Amino acid sequence: MRLFDRAVVRVLPAVPRSVVRRVAAPYIAGETLDDARRVVRELNAAGIRATVDVLGEDVSRSEEAEAMARAYHDALATIEAEGLDANVSIKLTGLGLELDKALCRTLVEAVVDDGARRGIFVRIDMEDSSTTDDALDLYRALRGSGRDNAGIVLQAALRRTLDDIATLADLRPSVRLCKGIYVEPSAIAFQEREVIRKSFVACLDALVDAGCRVAVATHDEWLLGQTLDRIPRLEAAGYELQMLLGVRVQRGRELVAAGHPLRIYVPYGQQWYEYSLRRLQENPGVAGHVAKDMLGRLVPGR
Ligand SMILES: Cc1cc2nc3c(=O)[nH]c(=O)nc-3n(C[C@H](O)[C@H](O)[C@H](O)COP(=O)(O)OP(=O)(O)OC[C@H]3O[C@@H](n4cnc5c(N)ncnc54)[C@H](O)[C@@H]3O)c2cc1C
Repeated sequence: MRLFDRAVVRVLPAVPRSVVRRVAAPYIAGETLDDARRVVRELNAAGIRATVDVLGEDVSRSEEAEAMARAYHDALATIEAEGLDANVSIKLTGLGLELDKALCRTLVEAVVDDGARRGIFVRIDMEDSSTTDDALDLYRALRGSGRDNAGIVLQAALRRTLDDIATLADLRPSVRLCKGIYVEPSAIAFQEREVIRKSFVACLDALVDAGCRVAVATHDEWLLGQTLDRIPRLEAAGYELQMLLGVRVQRGRELVAAGHPLRIYVPYGQQWYEYSLRRLQENPGVAGHVAKDMLGRLVPGR
């Protein structure tokens, strides 16, 4: 990322929320389930699957976690009723992990069970490294109680991930593999781009060797190349490519045209701010986008 873009990333939290909202608009379906339904329908019409994410994390009251769970039950009901080719992605902190672990587990089990009744898969997103053990423990408990429609995410940036793959291998987990978005200390996570890429490939190979179904979640062309080189091996247990709504849209279409299964992560909800910041921080042209929007506000009619 260029120097100016890096500087803008650092000051992003000081950028007015209204600007963040507008610049991040392509990354979010909208504020309502109906917005998500419309976007998923459009993706499905283009031969693309979706995973629906209700925005919201770090809740501070049990009522908020329960409201989040209700939003997921509504999303599952809509996916089933409309016959959408979609599943859901949940965040444990949004379901109360840091508030009350027992409540979180109860809510997650109910969402996974609702998904199972409707034939819909539920993926547990991975958050920062303070939650990794809890997420893996909960995932193991879900699978141990026969909830096989649950999947997990592993982050190639974390030094522990190869060990986690070895530990989880007996479950033959369905894993979304991604680099990992959270800023972590170097004792916990690799910091250099090339090292993270190498780790990603090593994790991918380890998952394939363990017979896991892998969802390869990246927009990194080099990693996509590594993935495509491994298609025959990935096909054995099943695979899909995953991308985020609004990122490398054209490349996604090309992958679908070439016959690859692609799933797009479709976030929606009123709590769009944290997610938007993370997406903008990864946008290589963030400075230009923010500057253009701010200029547009200063120069009416431009
Ligand atoms: C479907 C999906 C689910 C994910 N789930 C999780 C999760 O549960 N936990 C977690 O920690 N992380 C998750 N991530 C985020 C992931 O960890 C990375 O932070 C993110 O994908 C960027 O890494 P990359 O591999 O795409 O490579 P990068 O090197 O960051 O990106 C490659 C290229 O993609 C383009 N690009 C990437 N992001 C943007 C953007 N915002 N705007 C414009 N262009 C962009 C640029 O051209 C960039 O050079 C998920 C990612 C995806 C695709």
